[in-house]
Amino acid sequence: MPSKEGKMFIKALFDYNPNEDKAIPCREAGLSFRKGDILQIMSQDDATWWQARHEGDANPRAGLIPSKHFQERRLALRRPEILVQPLKLSNRKSSGFRRSFRLSRKDKKTNKSMYECKKSDQYDTADVPTYEEVSTYRRQAHEKYRLVVLVGPVGVGLNELKRKLLISDTQHYGVTVPHTTRAKRSQESDGVEYIFISKHLFETDVQNNKFIEYGEYKNNYYGTSIDSVRSVLAKNKVCLLDVQPHTVKHLRTLEFKPYVIFIKPPSIERLRETRKNAKIISSRDDQGTAKPFTEEDFQEMIKSAQIMESQYGHLFDKTIINDDLTMAFNELKTTFDKLETDTHWVPVSWLH
Ligand code: 5GP
Repeated sequence: MPSKEGKMFIKALFDYNPNEDKAIPCREAGLSFRKGDILQIMSQDDATWWQARHEGDANPRAGLIPSKHFQERRLALRRPEILVQPLKLSNRKSSGFRRSFRLSRKDKKTNKSMYECKKSDQYDTADVPTYEEVSTYRRQAHEKYRLVVLVGPVGVGLNELKRKLLISDTQHYGVTVPHTTRAKRSQESDGVEYIFISKHLFETDVQNNKFIEYGEYKNNYYGTSIDSVRSVLAKNKVCLLDVQPHTVKHLRTLEFKPYVIFIKPPSIERLRETRKNAKIISSRDDQGTAKPFTEEDFQEMIKSAQIMESQYGHLFDKTIINDDLTMAFNELKTTFDKLETDTHWVPVSWLH
């Protein structure tokens, strides 16, 4: 495969420990790595075992890693069945649309946890993440900013972090304006709170895949369009988008070059300490009113974060733990600054 200076680099999308691999011909010859590590491929001569080293590693010795094809085949065989259930969008409060990813209940027959999700989630189980060929990328001054996607469980503080970023520099950061089919209220202006469109147009746009996500609330549709992301980027702003993690893979295009930040909750002990006086609009509350966090909210947040990480962790570029809000914000700000100035690894398909 082509690569920078004739070298080929891959990003590992899974954790690998040769000592736990029964198939490897020689465990001592294996190379261990973690999800997200960048590896340089030294040889692909063998169809089952490639030779690789960690990028930037001073040790020139290569180790064995399972080839993409081999790993895909055995992961597909091993991967546990994930039961998915289409989310019923009506009768749900709105925040449920954006934040519908949650453990819902145990399946009575199999005792497996089920999570609610939109229909498109069902296809995610078919993906078997192994490696992705990557190359270095540094944004040039004339290029648009990369899209920044924020994901995280309900109540983790994602909206608060987004709000702080926005007010820190309103000229530099922007958010999308959602579409809705509900009637405009007197104090609202078209294109500010929402872009108001007819049901017919909304449905046509859905058919034409114009939405990144959408939902229904009180007989009206709400959604975020791909064009609304484009219009923020066209203003030469950094577009901050928070979406369900299952939508991320549809945004991974050369045009958007998304940088995905996972906002993760701290330990349950720290949640109890830090969120003592905070409120949440719980996904279990059909009224949609903010109430003090309960123990169940904390548990649900942690469980939901675990599911997100195990299902979509390979798509995250950065994880920030929101323990203390100010510290998390500072880390987020540093990440943004680096994103604009430093070199990053991106899929090779984004460079051509
Ligand atoms: P309202 O009609 O009161 O402005 O909003 C109703 C609900 O629609 C809000 O609580 C909001 O969370 C939800 N909503 C707003 N924008 C979007 C969107 O882009 N997508 C989805 N799925 N829901 C939205």
